[in-house]
Amino acid sequence: MTRNIILAALLTFATHAAAWTVGSPSGHITVNLSLDHGRPTYSVSYLNKPVIAPSTLGMQLADGTLGQNMVATGAKPKVVAHDETWVQPWGEDDTVRNHYNEITIALKERKTTSSRQHMNIIVRAYDDGFAFRYELPGDGDFQIMDELTQLRLAHDAPAWSIPSNRTAYFEGIYERAPLSQKDTVCTPLTIEYAPDLFLAIHEANLTDYASINLTPRPQPDGSVTLLTALTPWQNHVKVYATGHTVTPWRTVIISPTASDLLLSRMMLNLNEPSRIHDTSWIEPGRYIGIWWSIHKKKNTWEMGPTHGATTQNVKRYIDFAAKHGFASVLAEGWNPGWGQGEHISYLKAYPDFDIQDVCSYALAQGVRFIGHMESWGRAALIESQMDSAFAWYNSMGINTVKTGYVGQLLDGKELAKSQYGIRHYRRVIECAARHHIMIDNHEPAMPTGLQRTWPNLMTQEGVRGQEYNAWSADGGNPPSHTVTLPFTRGLAGPMDFTPAIFNQGDEIVPGTHPHSTLAKQLGEFVVLYSPLQMAADAIENYDGQPALTFIESCPTTWSRTLVPHGKIGEYITVARKERNGTGRWFVGSITNEQNRTLTLPLHFLDKGRSYKAVIYEDAADADYESNPYAMTIRQACVTADDVITLRLARSGGCAIRLEPIE
Ligand code: CA
Repeated sequence: MTRNIILAALLTFATHAAAWTVGSPSGHITVNLSLDHGRPTYSVSYLNKPVIAPSTLGMQLADGTLGQNMVATGAKPKVVAHDETWVQPWGEDDTVRNHYNEITIALKERKTTSSRQHMNIIVRAYDDGFAFRYELPGDGDFQIMDELTQLRLAHDAPAWSIPSNRTAYFEGIYERAPLSQKDTVCTPLTIEYAPDLFLAIHEANLTDYASINLTPRPQPDGSVTLLTALTPWQNHVKVYATGHTVTPWRTVIISPTASDLLLSRMMLNLNEPSRIHDTSWIEPGRYIGIWWSIHKKKNTWEMGPTHGATTQNVKRYIDFAAKHGFASVLAEGWNPGWGQGEHISYLKAYPDFDIQDVCSYALAQGVRFIGHMESWGRAALIESQMDSAFAWYNSMGINTVKTGYVGQLLDGKELAKSQYGIRHYRRVIECAARHHIMIDNHEPAMPTGLQRTWPNLMTQEGVRGQEYNAWSADGGNPPSHTVTLPFTRGLAGPMDFTPAIFNQGDEIVPGTHPHSTLAKQLGEFVVLYSPLQMAADAIENYDGQPALTFIESCPTTWSRTLVPHGKIGEYITVARKERNGTGRWFVGSITNEQNRTLTLPLHFLDKGRSYKAVIYEDAADADYESNPYAMTIRQACVTADDVITLRLARSGGCAIRLEPIE
């Protein structure tokens, strides 16, 4: 009798072994969670195929571990459905649907010495991926020494990434290699898991925490485990936390094609709604600036005989901006701090730059001057001056500031992507919002979708941009670079890549120039998304160029985005519909060093409507090495039933404007 009761109790315990499931709204993606000998474990399948093999979860705190011997607590967790559509003040689509199922598993460590005993795991299953985060309830201070999150892929696969420890400011070439052969990588990490299955791993809503890195570890069974490596403070602590703490979301986009990766808005959805209620002062737009001429050594940042940011020279750019429909003009090197021994100040201008005069001159023509704050990594200096500086800039009509952090460590001590840097960047965004200033952040942490919450965070660098085509000793960016970025860095958020160099001459390093045709430079203006999009060349290189007519007309915020073609590192076509009811579409298509012909069905156009297509394309004899400027502009009358043939030269491209005919 007694024995039977014990047996029954054991059976009951076995059948109640904790396991939970949450499926995406369509049911295509399933996340399974369980406790495996007290260790929280999850696995993920897509169309019933395993994608993430059983992988463990947990936290290493300074005074104990969470995830060793846990039990479920509280009531049986329920799957909660969520479906809303929200409006973006700017972006690649005007509205975003946030549709997912969520489950929260409440766990408790049975025996721990640590300051925390409870850990909740929140999982969201979307139709285009899944995400999870940890919630650590409780009071008081604690330190996270490591996140024990693993992502175990059932098999090895080719992947694109930049190495974490050898890439300053994320300015690297995304290299394709088997995951198992990679050292610790930054995210986004893009994986061709199968010919019809692509994954992109990153994080969303990075708030008061350390940036993620991933270390691949090949396993004897052929699987590859990705270990989480949070960016440390110099004393090896990863995160200082206080009170109720939630981590960023760990995100995996799952798509049947590479192109579909670009259409996922999961990362934006995993950030909080906008904290800025009146967004009317936030204005996306095109800009030009005194920038390329400095990288090409024709001008200097510091004051001197060839100083770029003089009153007269900036007014010349303002005149050009007004004439050609650019919203704003950037000038780097307008304030002291660039010369030897000069003290940096964001509150006064060089003597040859009358900032008040320049700002009113700009405003009178409907143009804004963009303030630039280079800090050489002195985050504390920016923080000490930003409130006064932003207020002053706003009083002069400046509505955008480009911040910069060139230097190995912030304030000589901490990594930019550590919790120290994450806290700093957020303070700048919030302060800027109070003063109605938009931010273009250079040398940032990797973006994680915060522009949903802070839509004044317009664009960021964190990408190997155009300037490498001015001075890089390796010859500049290879032709495959801009057909890889949309599938990798671009998944993290807008990139201030600064496209549209028209003059490839005047090399300062032999052989270093944009390895691209002119038509590809136009195509990149559409393909590489940034709500503040720079036409980066010096204005004398644009003057009288027919190609400029495409850029003059091209918006930087869209009602809808499609990706008709995409193969990572080879080619991409992006079609975008303008906002505000004009009905115009803009298409950019670019290729690597292979020439190719692509067909573009126009079924995205309104049925029964005729459009004037203005097509900027590589001439028949165009070639990025021998004949980069050969471009033709032709017009055609098209409808939704037509197909346009895109003939792309080697490292060539095409840009198309489609205007409804009334
Ligand atoms: Ca930079």
